[in-house]
Amino acid sequence: MNTTPYYHPIGREIHVFEHAYAKKIPLLLKGPTGTGKSRFVEFMAHKLQKNLITISCHEETSSTDLIGRYIIKGAETIWLDGPLTTALKSGAILYLDELAEARPDVVVVIHSLTDHRRELYIDKLGSTLKAHKDFMLVASYNPGYQRGFKEIKPSTKQRFVAIAFDFPSPTIEIQILINESNIEQAIAKKLVQIGNKIRNLTELGLTESVSTRLLVDAAKLIQSGLPKRLAVQVAVIEPLSDDREIVSAMRDLADLMI
Ligand code: ADP
Repeated sequence: MNTTPYYHPIGREIHVFEHAYAKKIPLLLKGPTGTGKSRFVEFMAHKLQKNLITISCHEETSSTDLIGRYIIKGAETIWLDGPLTTALKSGAILYLDELAEARPDVVVVIHSLTDHRRELYIDKLGSTLKAHKDFMLVASYNPGYQRGFKEIKPSTKQRFVAIAFDFPSPTIEIQILINESNIEQAIAKKLVQIGNKIRNLTELGLTESVSTRLLVDAAKLIQSGLPKRLAVQVAVIEPLSDDREIVSAMRDLADLMI
């Protein structure tokens, strides 16, 4: 089997996942982008030795994309299972990344799967599919980013057990940077300090703050030989804002620190 994805636990999430999996209770991972939600699911699927099927939801994602559709092949019309149907039949872990982005009919589908019956009615086939005993549903969403426009309804949220993800403590984040990029400890420490400094500058009004992902990218660029300040600028600062004043404020601050 291929190597275990690297994942550094932040709290008791591995424990929670294992028990939720044992009881097949759907799991919701909530938190800002780049805080390790997807990596965690990859890690858990590997640990539990289950196949993982990931769907990155966007505003066009519909229940048809998940369930399947008829396609025309030569003179024939054949049914093609979608990823959800495949996961249900094979007992895989299905990860719906950014669930709040998907169209409302996706949520309807989820409702039928998250109660005790664990079954899916496929109207195009006129049949009901029972989930394989190993099937589990995991979804993620980003409450900060979604605020105000795309929310997951409380009635949907209540069908899940939820784990909150946030930026790791400096000690853990330094460890993640070193593991992901092979960078020296002193540089990892500096990057995490810069990250935390910007995270604390709430007056910048950033929609999304510095994620671990951005710090990992900066570390990788430095490890590859890019000058440190430039790496921080392109990997951490520019992706966060298009406002030149805010960018320049963050840049001055980072330049002072590295
Ligand atoms: P999300 O799904 O929350 O947007 P990801 O799982 O894609 O975030 O994480 C982005 C990157 O950050 C990963 O590729 C990895 O390099 C790093 N990362 C973040 N948190 C962790 C963690 N706890 N353990 C290992 N890597 C992490």
